[in-house]
Amino acid sequence: TSGAEALARLVVDVPDYPEPGVVFKDVTPLLADPAGLRAVVAALADAGRRDGEVVVDAVVGMEARGFLFGTPVALELGVGFVPVRKAGKLPRETHSRSYALEYGEATLQIHRDALAPGARVLLVDDVLATGGTVEATRELVTACGAEAVGVAVLMELSFLHGRARLGDLPLTALLTL
Ligand code: IMP
Repeated sequence: TSGAEALARLVVDVPDYPEPGVVFKDVTPLLADPAGLRAVVAALADAGRRDGEVVVDAVVGMEARGFLFGTPVALELGVGFVPVRKAGKLPRETHSRSYALEYGEATLQIHRDALAPGARVLLVDDVLATGGTVEATRELVTACGAEAVGVAVLMELSFLHGRARLGDLPLTALLTL
């Protein structure tokens, strides 16, 4: 099973969710499939290696599906996992960034001491849509004194032009739609 094949077979399009006009990519069948899950986690983890060597110090995943994929990617790379959460969920001092979503608006936070200064970070999420989530997360990583060196997603919704907001941040997308 390749990552792209697993995505094509195991991600379900849900029209008009969470609001009319949006086609939501439901990854729950992929999570429930052990071979598919293994394939996509392995493919995402490759974004944290150069010439077979791990080149990141941490994985940052965005609430909520970034947790589901980012944590096993961190395990596979042998580095730690750091959550970026929606406002009010982290119990200690945070950095905050507000941003516009494909649908609605949100504030993301990271613990101020979550990343070592200078740490090289791989961002992991399920879907790159408008890029606002990745952009805000990159700013949070920078606020911690660390550096985002790549972003890995299952799916890039290219018609929403999220890639344009990433600047020079390398994007690995297992499937481009
Ligand atoms: P962006 O900030 O517009 O790039 O939206 C990306 C965020 O919204 C990610 O955290 C995704 O999990 C979520 N998202 C946007 N569209 C979808 C979708 O179709 N399926 C699942 N998640 C989505």
